[in-house]
Amino acid sequence: MSVSVFALRLPSIDSLLRHPACQPLAERYGREALLTGFRQLLDDLREAVLAGQLTAVEISPEALAGRVAERLALKQRSQVHRVFNLTGTVLHTNLGRALLPDEAIEAVQLAARYPLNLEFDLASGKRGDRDDLIEGLIRELTGAEAVTVVNNNAAAVLLTLNSLGVRKEGIISRGELIEIGGAFRIPDIMARAGVRLHEVGTTNRTHTRDYEAAISPRSGLIMRVHASNYSIEGFTACVPTSELAELAHRHGLPLLEDLGSGSLLDLTRWGLPAEPTVRQALLDGADIVTFSGDKLLGGPQAGVIVGRKDLIAKIKKNPLKRALRVDKLTLAALEAVLGLYRDPDRLAERLPSLRLLTRPQADILAQAERLQPALSRVLGDAWIVSAVPALGMIGSGSQPVARLPSAALCLRPQVSKRLRGRCLLNLESALRALPIPVLGRIDDDALWLDLRQLDDESAWLAQLGQLQT
Ligand SMILES: *Cc1c(COP(=O)(O)O)cnc(C)c1O
Repeated sequence: MSVSVFALRLPSIDSLLRHPACQPLAERYGREALLTGFRQLLDDLREAVLAGQLTAVEISPEALAGRVAERLALKQRSQVHRVFNLTGTVLHTNLGRALLPDEAIEAVQLAARYPLNLEFDLASGKRGDRDDLIEGLIRELTGAEAVTVVNNNAAAVLLTLNSLGVRKEGIISRGELIEIGGAFRIPDIMARAGVRLHEVGTTNRTHTRDYEAAISPRSGLIMRVHASNYSIEGFTACVPTSELAELAHRHGLPLLEDLGSGSLLDLTRWGLPAEPTVRQALLDGADIVTFSGDKLLGGPQAGVIVGRKDLIAKIKKNPLKRALRVDKLTLAALEAVLGLYRDPDRLAERLPSLRLLTRPQADILAQAERLQPALSRVLGDAWIVSAVPALGMIGSGSQPVARLPSAALCLRPQVSKRLRGRCLLNLESALRALPIPVLGRIDDDALWLDLRQLDDESAWLAQLGQLQT
């Protein structure tokens, strides 16, 4: 059969659309989508025939309708997929960081469904400011004079630098010129903010005298950045915030501190590594402190700027503020999350990120032991599955060297060393292909599923039977 004859034999789209087999599809997806689906399918078939890739294909209306139905169903699936984060990194930037508590989810629903007083003062009936919705709460929790919130912490840093230091010099230690990931580099952000970088000291040691020697009439601000995702150890020195603040103020300069994850409470009370708190940075004399909403704070993506009233007023007047502003769903979630901080005693039960970060290792190990037989059965003799202690991470640049004692299911392929890598990658991709993709990590010739974040054990078990290894 020649190609042209084959192509001519395809039924017309019109006749396909009228065919009874297509009626349920038209009802489900709409005529327009069905029409587009058929056009694309027929085009693809013609192309495949011309390319010699197809020799025989069933072209009955029923068969074609079936193929279009498959395509339409696939298209209708959301591209946003829930996953099981068993990587061992709790606040995983690529997997959405913090999970919201029920209180925040309810607040988001309310804000999404109804009109609200986003920028409207209900007492006076006049126009309001969206920051007013959370300013009181953030002041209470941090001791700050004033507050403004933007889209994320990168925006907070950009906006603050541009508002307070444009066309002037920003003095910063060489040890703090960091890259946070996703192209967020302090020198680049400074340049885009219109602030001239004046780096001082060395990578490992910077002293007060280094900052002092850099101060001139061109100076606009002194900046300090939490090193977040790396750590310098050994022969090191940095200037305490209080000393740096004293120096800045003596010269009439503001001190900005970018805390990154910025915790609101001392995490050591839950046995976690110490992180500088926002309140302490302000007490030490930082004039402006910036931090993320979805890292250690455990809320939605947001950037919080707190500090001196006159400086916050200046930041809020910057036209960039309008471009970087936070949306109503985020504000609603943020308020609900911050509300939980009023009761620190119950915070670890109510805030998912803190609950997960503080899960005892014994608990996780017991869970691993409980799940080991089921996974072992599914994988068969080709794999050794063991429940073992493991080390996880907080993630999102918080405490890069600290390790969270955790537990994992460790899967080792029983094949020769040469084949192990391929075997591990195959299993990893099979786990990703499950209805709720399971993400682990490969290390030391094994695939590790860290169970710290496995809340929904039954959903995880229920889909194991579908694993295609
Ligand atoms: C994470 C981080 C940022 C960026 O915050 P986002 O909320 O991800 O935009 C900026 N500075 C520091 C020190 C950070 O750790």
